[in-house]
Amino acid sequence: MVGILGATGMVGQRFIQLLNNHPWFEIAWLAASDRSAGKTYAEACRWKLDSSLPARIAAMTLQPNVPEGSAIELPKIIFAALDADIARELEPKFAAAGCAVISNSSAFRMTEDVPLVVPEVNADHLPLIEAQRWRKESGGYIVTNPNCSAIGLVLALKPLEERFGIESVFVSTMQAVSGAGYPGVASLDILGNVVPFIKNEEEKLQEEAGKLLGRLNGRRIDALDAKVSAHCNRVAVEDGHTECVSIKLRKKATREEIVAAWNEFRPLQGLHLPTAPDQPVEYDSSVDRPQPRLDRMRGQGMAATVGRLRECNLLDWKFVVLSHNTIRGAAGAALLNAEVLAMLGKLDKLGVARVDAAKAVAVTA
Ligand code: NAP
Repeated sequence: MVGILGATGMVGQRFIQLLNNHPWFEIAWLAASDRSAGKTYAEACRWKLDSSLPARIAAMTLQPNVPEGSAIELPKIIFAALDADIARELEPKFAAAGCAVISNSSAFRMTEDVPLVVPEVNADHLPLIEAQRWRKESGGYIVTNPNCSAIGLVLALKPLEERFGIESVFVSTMQAVSGAGYPGVASLDILGNVVPFIKNEEEKLQEEAGKLLGRLNGRRIDALDAKVSAHCNRVAVEDGHTECVSIKLRKKATREEIVAAWNEFRPLQGLHLPTAPDQPVEYDSSVDRPQPRLDRMRGQGMAATVGRLRECNLLDWKFVVLSHNTIRGAAGAALLNAEVLAMLGKLDKLGVARVDAAKAVAVTA
């Protein structure tokens, strides 16, 4: 059984869509702001996705957004899709109440004992949870997934870092409007326009890439020793963040070697995790791909598509990477983190059975 905090927002809705018919997790608890508590989900939410709202969820009552006071039992796995300020206040309360909080927000991403994880990139950082005070006191903990642009970027960079090492990265993003939540950017600001500023986004992309590609060193992460410079722009695209990337490698690599690194990158192969794409980084050799409308749903929205690999006059190589911001960049990323935690037995102490993914049918809390 799982719960969703911030269930009515853009990311919350994706959680509901992705968890509908999930083989291991079943939604048992929903909460949003105080404005929504006590309403049915259908009353509180403006459903914005192109699949229909499941009838069972539509009829569920939104609970108070605190661990105590629910009319129903609080699940031990809480997916959180809250703005950072609210997450900073609420997520620790759920961790202290003995929940595994799988968070989308930036509130704790850079906190030393909180893992910031993309399973294909750095699942080996998850042992950091054991140092968290909530883990010691109640069994609960917080695990985070990165900023929506950082996910696409590190998926493309990790295979290159493994084989050639990375010295510097220059990235310029074109980020979809759904990345700003709902109602997000005013239509008069974005239609026919590009907004070359997203608050704190460049800092997040730069810092988070370093932590994600860094190494676990005892109870902390040593960030990757590489320079990352980011420009972040909001564009009039509904879903899917596109990033133009130039990189300097530590070891020379040919075009064929780089493409092979992406094609052969399958770190979760054989684990049978329901949300893991078979091919997390898909290379497309067409001259004009990836494009958000055409490529964002590859791997059920969980694959990053890379294309336009060519030599760079300033650094070594340049390419374009695209990923779906509310699936791979948010709800799908958190769901995959929860699947890995279940497989590793990191939900055991919370009374959630370890999952043998190859045989699993359902996780019972
Ligand atoms: P959103 O559409 O604005 O949704 C915000 C959610 O938080 C709603 O469910 C809202 O409930 C709830 N909420 C607001 N105030 C609250 C309070 N005081 N207490 C409890 N719940 C409250 O935002 P979003 O786009 O889903 O983003 C959620 C988080 O995910 C943010 O931290 C964002 O940075 C991160 N994220 C977003 C994306 C993306 O592509 N959108 C990608 C990666 C990460 P009501 O309906 O009741 O107001």
